[in-house]
Amino acid sequence: MASACLIKVRGVVQGVGFRPFVYRIARELKLSGWVLNGEEGVAIHLEGDEPVLQEFLKRLKNDAPPAARIVAVEVTPANLGGLQGFIIKESERNRQPTVRISPDLPVCDECSREMEDASNRRYHYPYINCTNCGPRYTVILALPYDRPNTTMKSWPLDEYCDEEYHDPSNRRFHAQPVACPECGPHYYLRTGAEIVRGDERVIRETVDLLKAGKIVAVKGLGGYHLACDAENAEAVAAVRARKFRKEKPFAVMVEHVAEAQELGEFSSEGLEMLTSIERPIVLAPAKLELPGVAPDNRELGIMLPYTPLQKLLFAFGAPRILVMTSANRSSEPIAYDDQDAFERLSEIADAFLVGERPIARRVDDSVARVGALGPAILRRSRGYAPGAVASVPMSCKRPILALGADLKNSVTLVVEGQAFVSQYIGDLDHYEAFRAFEETIRDLMTMYEIRWEDVVVVHDAHPEYRSTVHALRLPAPDKRVVQHHRAHVASVLAERGEWEKRVLGVSFDGTGYGDDGSIWGGEIFVGSLSSGFERIAHLRPAALPGGDAAAQYPVQAAAGFLAQVEGLPAMQDAPFSFPARYRTALQLVHKNVRTFPTTSVGRLFDTVAALLGFTREITFEGQAAMWVEHIARAAGETDCYPFPLVNAELDFRPLLQAVVRDRIAGRKIEVIGRAFQRGMAHGVAEAIRVLAHNHNVDTVVFSGGVFQNELLLEDIKEELKDSLLQLWTNGAVPANDGGISLGQAALAALRNPDQE
Ligand SMILES: [Zn+2]
Ligand SMILES: [Zn+2]
Repeated sequence: MASACLIKVRGVVQGVGFRPFVYRIARELKLSGWVLNGEEGVAIHLEGDEPVLQEFLKRLKNDAPPAARIVAVEVTPANLGGLQGFIIKESERNRQPTVRISPDLPVCDECSREMEDASNRRYHYPYINCTNCGPRYTVILALPYDRPNTTMKSWPLDEYCDEEYHDPSNRRFHAQPVACPECGPHYYLRTGAEIVRGDERVIRETVDLLKAGKIVAVKGLGGYHLACDAENAEAVAAVRARKFRKEKPFAVMVEHVAEAQELGEFSSEGLEMLTSIERPIVLAPAKLELPGVAPDNRELGIMLPYTPLQKLLFAFGAPRILVMTSANRSSEPIAYDDQDAFERLSEIADAFLVGERPIARRVDDSVARVGALGPAILRRSRGYAPGAVASVPMSCKRPILALGADLKNSVTLVVEGQAFVSQYIGDLDHYEAFRAFEETIRDLMTMYEIRWEDVVVVHDAHPEYRSTVHALRLPAPDKRVVQHHRAHVASVLAERGEWEKRVLGVSFDGTGYGDDGSIWGGEIFVGSLSSGFERIAHLRPAALPGGDAAAQYPVQAAAGFLAQVEGLPAMQDAPFSFPARYRTALQLVHKNVRTFPTTSVGRLFDTVAALLGFTREITFEGQAAMWVEHIARAAGETDCYPFPLVNAELDFRPLLQAVVRDRIAGRKIEVIGRAFQRGMAHGVAEAIRVLAHNHNVDTVVFSGGVFQNELLLEDIKEELKDSLLQLWTNGAVPANDGGISLGQAALAALRNPDQE
């Protein structure tokens, strides 16, 4: 007996070869009907015998294409139409598109093989791709995802590609960016005014330049990289000098997993991450010292090639370890427009390897690591963005646009119950990053066809944040404010879909605007997404001379904290040797001029860094704290300094007293650093035990930039291993401010029931 059904598949199912896949199994099973890309995903009408329909459903779920992410499969009975055969219908388009845009995909094995096959039409062709691989988000100009809406629109298909594109049994069926050397874009090499063409030739010449120690700007998926030989210390030093990037680590790229394992210590989870479809830069303990690549850093950022071009560079004999760092000057956003790259990078790069296919939007490499409490993402961008990271309760009907924080900005758009988190945007104090922020907002609003009058805009509480000022200018009538550290805690719960769960939320970072207008950063809350979060404990406040500007100078931050420590020696003398800035800052504290109260754990880390010898200016955010973790790692087991919870305040005074005492006594800074970190973990763990008991919760959430300190998380986990508490941190969005927009959206969603 034949029956019919309608199947709706939601998730990442468009632009990933889903319809040809459905077509293939329907044909194999001799089922009739159709498949089409609808607005909410893929819709399939099937007619056939019941057991065969069941078999179809099984294979639909089990054998889906590698890049597809099925979120839901809904099956409803349908009327038998007596259809003959199975067809792919044209896309449907009426309402607002809620279908997900696929992130960019790494080149697949089949395309890689074709690229190496001299008899293949696409032999050595750097723009090879298929429905299982290639660019997506970085080429999409508008929805639905069809070729005329991509940056490939200027390259009409020739007969060969057209045939593949229209053949449902072909791997390139409806692969929107499909191209071949006859009809598609090419690469060229630009050295000064000289231009060399020919894909193979320019790859060969680029390889020669890299081998000769030159710096080449290489166009990738979401922007340019600066590439050089990582084993050539002079070349690496030249990139640093020209980029004005003094110390921040560079990522490297190697051809194979085996080489990655020679460079870094990878667990099986780490390897999984490295070879995952997202292909992030994975931070792993370094096994090899590459001079200048990651100074004063225990870890090395390693990634594998993900574009055909990168594979070709290695196949043509590029140096075996390449520095591949975002092409920009220090802290500016990555260059992605050719003309802009030529202008901004002319002093940095010796040559440009330029691909003709335009990049629709800037998307950096993502950065991830295997964390103490599970996989952690430090920068969420290529491969992940603009994937949805959370499903929001459907009671929230209106779209929400959350603008994030000013540092490490990202924005989140919630549409029809899905939270889409943008790529990493950067520091909004930078003009270029601010423009990228505006573009990304426009991008998301346009792509999902959201009208300003419908959207709820959420922003940080800081009145001087650029994102706040921007929010107030937007033409949306409904605006909400979410406090920074509550947004951190909320981001963890939103990722997990825990809308009602009551937790203890530990939110530690460098800075964020508090309820009382002071600078928060060491906060403990209790509550849930639906009820909100109440602040129940925090770091003992200290004075911060110069406010947030003190974050640049550990000794300046130290002045306020040390002003509360008794019996200090003369800090300008050995072993501390604090520079004059400390004395000036201390005077501000004593006179209470340009001084702000703070509970920032980030600044407490800076203070300890200063006491241990990091007395200069930092050159990138979080550097001093990373240095403390780095040296602490070098010490073995040690004691732990006291960090008690007194009247709902974590008291840093005994902690700092111990650091000062042991430093004067000549104890090794590595051991002091370790005892400080352990003391902090012990103090926080003890506070958690008491507060969790008093407030009757069984789960603790950790978020905020401080929890990128893996040693701290490991120690806290160890301290609490005999408790029954569940410990959660971020996994899908960063614990740093890159995750703030998701938390803002989540808190606004639940305080935003369905009234229109
Ligand atoms: Zn492919
Ligand atoms: Zn072609």
